[in-house]
Amino acid sequence: MKIAVVGTGYVGLVTGTCLAETGNDVTCVDINEEKVEKMNRGQIPIYEPGLETLFYRNIAQRRLDFTSNLADAIKDAKIIFLALPTPPGDDGSADLSYVLGAAKDIAGLITDYKVVVTKSTVPVGTADKVTAVFRANTSVEVDVVSNPEFLREGVAVEDFMKPDRVVVGTRSERARKLMEELYGPYVRSGNPIIFMDERSSELTKYAANSFLATKITFMNEVANLCELVGADVDMVRRGIGADARIGKRFLFPGVGYGGSCFPKDVQALAKSASEVNYDFSILNSVMSVNEKQKVVIVEKMRRYYKGDLKGKKFAMWGLAFKPETDDIREAPALYIIDELLKEGAEIVAYDPEAMENVKRLKGDTIKYAADAYEAVQGADALIIVTEWSLFRTPDFDRIEAGLKSRVIFDGRNLYDLQKMIDCGYYYNSIGRKTIE
Ligand code: NAD
Repeated sequence: MKIAVVGTGYVGLVTGTCLAETGNDVTCVDINEEKVEKMNRGQIPIYEPGLETLFYRNIAQRRLDFTSNLADAIKDAKIIFLALPTPPGDDGSADLSYVLGAAKDIAGLITDYKVVVTKSTVPVGTADKVTAVFRANTSVEVDVVSNPEFLREGVAVEDFMKPDRVVVGTRSERARKLMEELYGPYVRSGNPIIFMDERSSELTKYAANSFLATKITFMNEVANLCELVGADVDMVRRGIGADARIGKRFLFPGVGYGGSCFPKDVQALAKSASEVNYDFSILNSVMSVNEKQKVVIVEKMRRYYKGDLKGKKFAMWGLAFKPETDDIREAPALYIIDELLKEGAEIVAYDPEAMENVKRLKGDTIKYAADAYEAVQGADALIIVTEWSLFRTPDFDRIEAGLKSRVIFDGRNLYDLQKMIDCGYYYNSIGRKTIE
């Protein structure tokens, strides 16, 4: 099938590449010409494990190409995916200007029936708004379908190729058939394509992300309580996770949720609810707890250094909002950096993939190390912010040789407490006993 994907970010590029992988003929279009040129030169603009192989294979086999010309991209396409940004507007609601603007541009170009699929995360009622844009700007028949994306950065290719489920919101039988045909190869193992109306589909995405953000936040609160009452959150996590109704996943406490999705989606759902006079109060609590949790590690540091962080030098391991990505949007590391710099501390950071992105944002307000051990050289303490695998079993002798004193603040609970006792560290993690 001939497909166009508008927007080649984390979602658009993965969607386009993975759709090409099953034999479709995909053209991806982006307004960022530099990005398009890069991709046409064979460079992938993001870090996403597993994407490279598929990207090169499908370009070589001429099923995947890139352009900045919308007309060229959609000319013969049967289905047009919109994978455009929906950032938070000033009032917290999702900014639909990219999606509605692209719809208007597409409407001015099409001459035959199209299915236009919203992959971006958009509030309830957006399919109606997009349909209205088409009605106002073209007489060509268009079905607007909601097809929210559930991929996780870091495992995006796997998530797209083998989704737990595909949600499709449409009341058009014609569009439904095309979507069924397109997604068939991805659900061969029996996972469902769940068809529903557009509004339910749009809300499904927000409900999923808000539920997950709530689950993490709940565990962060349990962890904070554990510290006050002398319990161990790892034990509590295992104790509750064994209950099938709760499940083992997404129960790890840490330095708060970040990323390009959870913060904006929780905010947008709360805002959508308030627009229909519904006070979705649990989401307001989730947001305020998360604000505090993002800097909980700085609170721990203030206590340890008796409020005096001025002139202290800290090694920071991890900048990305989670491992296996270079994405730093709303990353807790950025908030921790700001707090520490305000207190007059110095930071030397190391992250396997995200340093370039942080450099663009923070410039030389912090230093960047060539590897994890260079970061700890002469540092007063090590702070762990992202749970990259390479930080899990480091060479503690090399850490000890670099650090001025054996002090670790671990926002991801990477190390065994007994190991920290044996190595003689001051070790402060989340929801567990502090080793002094
Ligand atoms: P992104 O910012 O990485 O990418 C968006 C791309 O769209 C950019 O390359 C930008 O240049 C391009 N663009 C902007 N305006 C354009 C236009 N008019 N025409 C063509 N291209 C244009 O965004 P993303 O992370 O891929 O997210 C896209 C949407 O998917 C958002 O609504 C997001 O909430 C949702 N989503 C994201 C994830 C994720 O993990 N990143 C997961 C699920 C859903």
